[in-house]
Amino acid sequence: MTATGPAACVIGWPVDHSRSPLIHNYWLKRYGIVGEYRREAVPPQEFAAFAGSLAARGYVGANVTLPHKEAALALSQPDDRARAVGAANTLWLDGGVLRSSNTDVEGFLDNLDASAPHWDRGLNEAVVLGAGGAARAVIYGLLTRGVERLVLVNRTRSRAELLRRTFGARIEVAGWDVLDATLTDAALLVNTTTLGMQGQPALAAKLARLPRHAVVADLVYVPVRTPLITAAQARALRTADGLGMLLHQAVRGFALWFGRTPEVTPELRALLEADLGSATAKP
Ligand code: NAP
Repeated sequence: MTATGPAACVIGWPVDHSRSPLIHNYWLKRYGIVGEYRREAVPPQEFAAFAGSLAARGYVGANVTLPHKEAALALSQPDDRARAVGAANTLWLDGGVLRSSNTDVEGFLDNLDASAPHWDRGLNEAVVLGAGGAARAVIYGLLTRGVERLVLVNRTRSRAELLRRTFGARIEVAGWDVLDATLTDAALLVNTTTLGMQGQPALAAKLARLPRHAVVADLVYVPVRTPLITAAQARALRTADGLGMLLHQAVRGFALWFGRTPEVTPELRALLEADLGSATAKP
């Protein structure tokens, strides 16, 4: 607590690019909560000391961004989500105990629920592109929603194989060369790679092969309308974009730190869209 109410922050190195202050300060103002949300630029060698002194610094919790997410997991009491993903992005103090979670899991799922209701009814097959940190959150989330078969496609096959060993038999690894063939039976296509991000090549996939009921999700949010989202909408497929995920993943941290579950509103989305629209390459 500070004299001005509870305080939280986002810890990163660098941290200037983070949109979390925009989101949380919007909610603080909207709900009339006296509190603060700040940026903290903390180099890797100082992270452990910083995380260990959150209370002394007046913080009730924090978001953690690159490159500290694995260290945050190791230095806290993680929940099942953070443990499964292997990284923590949200910290909070619980009676002196530093706890952590990974809210990318629910950010991904809640955004799909909001953008494409009932997307998970009869979820036989999903295709997930990418095998980095974000893919782990997506795979864990899809397994909890009962996906029967998850085809994992990654440029570096060994990283996908590692995730298959981690997450089990419902994961099947396929190469980029057979990507288009995998789309024929997919109820859901998810891009967790950086392809389509500003300054990166677009993602080349033959969306015409997807079934008509398929849903397409992209985690990239710079730009908000990625080439993948644009192509899916041109085919009249339902979509869930990366900005929606970014907003939904912020909900639980705010609730934990400030005591109120906030809403992801069109007004908040418009605020972020305006900020991202004026951005250059700010992942
Ligand atoms: P990461 O761990 O660095 O993984 C990057 C992934 O992209 C890897 O699978 C990598 O394949 C693949 N990739 C990169 N360049 C490629 C190329 N030219 N061709 C094919 N594959 C390529 O990154 P991350 O943390 O998972 O994040 C991935 C994306 O998700 C980023 O755009 C990030 O901003 C976004 N994200 C969004 C949210 C949200 O809330 N919307 C949350 C988390 C992440 P290799 O293994 O072969 O290198």
